[in-house]
Amino acid sequence: MSLAVQIRQHGGPEELHLTDVPVGEPGPGEIRIRHHAVGLNFIDVYHRTGLYPLPMPATIGMEGAGIVEAVGPGVTHLSAGDRAAYASAPPGSYAEVRVLPAKCVCRLPDAIDFETGAAMMLKGLTAQYLLKKTLPAEGLQPGDHVLFHAAAGGVGLIACQWARALGLQLIGTAGSDDKCRLALANGAAHAINYRTEDFAARVKEITDGKGVKVVYDSVGKDTWEKSLECLRPFGLMATFGNASGPAPAFAPGMLGAKGSLYVTRQTLFTHIATREATQAMADDLFAVVQSGDVTIHIDQRYPLRDVQQAHRDLEARKTTGSTILTLE
Ligand code: NDP
Repeated sequence: MSLAVQIRQHGGPEELHLTDVPVGEPGPGEIRIRHHAVGLNFIDVYHRTGLYPLPMPATIGMEGAGIVEAVGPGVTHLSAGDRAAYASAPPGSYAEVRVLPAKCVCRLPDAIDFETGAAMMLKGLTAQYLLKKTLPAEGLQPGDHVLFHAAAGGVGLIACQWARALGLQLIGTAGSDDKCRLALANGAAHAINYRTEDFAARVKEITDGKGVKVVYDSVGKDTWEKSLECLRPFGLMATFGNASGPAPAFAPGMLGAKGSLYVTRQTLFTHIATREATQAMADDLFAVVQSGDVTIHIDQRYPLRDVQQAHRDLEARKTTGSTILTLE
């Protein structure tokens, strides 16, 4: 048995229940891991509310780090006793122990502690694909301007630092002046408080009217419209989340009128569909963290039993950087 956080129906934070669940042996291609720390992500909110529906009951959570306890048939890259970390589909990380597909799981370098591992996999792999794999053709070049919303959040603070290391001019938005300062301290070239300033006007000013090559928008409903105004001709709108609600439906003709724009909606889980792709992206992430170019900021820690409060704070925009759930 394992202590886990389950939902029995979609709803508010009060639907998160600490409960004992059975844990079986890993089947073919699976491992069993005992978590030392679990990562909190905004997708956990979508799973809880039902924006992304799950079959019930469900243990939510997509990120964790710990020790591999057992490996199933056919698993060759991990052994019992290994230190490991992962971003996973399906959910199930809000638990002391779980079984999951081994292809999601990577050995954690000795220099990276468990809490950092749990705080960086889903968010860091997301920053990796957004900055390095989302833009086709020639990709991003040093000096390019990009706009990154929620820049002081979990994915955001990693993206700010990684963008600086790549020589990009990242314009970050955030919901308070303190959060803007945090984004600037972590590599954003400019920061805009989008609750008090017109971010599209400021982006035009910063880029001498040209606009940015890519907008990374995980806020959705509240930023979609103005984000499109921030793009240069042939620019890319990379919408990847719904923190304020889903972005609206649109008529494709609008993209032509606004300057032959591109729109993409990607998800990490397409990028990490295979073990090889996951490992390659994780190696890149481990390297940038070990080089010191990216520091994983764990700004909040909650014991697993306080998971309801963790969700309340995340939704109330009270958190910055990464948040982890700790296990006694
Ligand atoms: P964050 O730590 O970034 O938290 C979300 C942030 O969104 C808040 O702190 C807040 O920052 C901002 N926000 C803006 N409007 C709202 C609102 N109405 N309600 C709540 N928050 C709001 O979360 P994560 O780092 O876990 O994830 C960031 C985003 O990236 C999420 O939307 C998530 O779903 C998405 N994501 C997508 C992935 C993909 O592959 N498609 C993978 C991983 C994450 P502020 O106060 O500064 O505005």
